[in-house]
Amino acid sequence: MIELVSASRCIKCNICVNICPTNVFDRVPDAPPAIARKSDCQTCFMCELYCPVDALYVAPETDLQTSVNEDELAQKGLLGSYRENIGWGTKRASTAKNDQTFQILKQMR
Ligand code: SF4
Ligand code: SF4
Repeated sequence: MIELVSASRCIKCNICVNICPTNVFDRVPDAPPAIARKSDCQTCFMCELYCPVDALYVAPETDLQTSVNEDELAQKGLLGSYRENIGWGTKRASTAKNDQTFQILKQMR
């Protein structure tokens, strides 16, 4: 579930507002977006994936609210970690070729 918009990192591009499939965020004039409808979050990680400055944290827990501390998240490299693991961003290589999900699909046929 979405847990954090970092005010210090956010550049107010509103990409997350536009990308979220369940309209969790509200635009705020001259400020980072607000998490307005947290319970609508589907933990899809799309906002974290598209945020260009790693300003978002989506916790893997889908139903439970998690208490988060921005400094700790940053220290552990968890802000934007989904984006990093997918290989999106400058000077990163896509990790798509490592995805073994197709093996599951093959088993299902
Ligand atoms: S995508 Fe990232 S930088 Fe852009 S508004 Fe959302 S949190 Fe801020
Ligand atoms: S994880 Fe998905 S559903 Fe949740 S706020 Fe981000 S984009 Fe929206």
